[in-house]
Amino acid sequence: MIDADCIFCKIVAGDIPSTKVLETERVFAFRDLHPKAPTHVLVIPKDHYANTAELADADPALAGEVLNAAAQVAAAEGVAHDGWRLLANTGANGGQEVFHVHFHVFGGKRLGPMLS
Ligand code: IMP
Repeated sequence: MIDADCIFCKIVAGDIPSTKVLETERVFAFRDLHPKAPTHVLVIPKDHYANTAELADADPALAGEVLNAAAQVAAAEGVAHDGWRLLANTGANGGQEVFHVHFHVFGGKRLGPMLS
């Protein structure tokens, strides 16, 4: 399932360049264009789901693969030992700007509270 207008679908397809961090059969991870921490990676399913709820409803196994990939990214980035943050903004009030579900992996510094 691909959305022709979705920038993250275009990144998966290679039509928009990205810095790839990890790829599996169904998951893709790449560096955020505007990093907010020394490690800031986005982990996404290759298939298009708008948000966390859609993904969890449609394919819980894939949701698990995305979480597993996020943990692999944290380990590969060398931030697993000191701690890291996994964040999925969901919907407008959640601060979601790109409507292809994605999990932010933040690490590499002591992170403060992020609610505002
Ligand atoms: P959201 O607010 O949770 O939807 O986060 C969207 C994230 O996507 C932001 O942190 C953006 O910096 C990031 N982003 C948007 N376009 C691109 C891109 O083309 N490459 C990498 N990251 C992007």
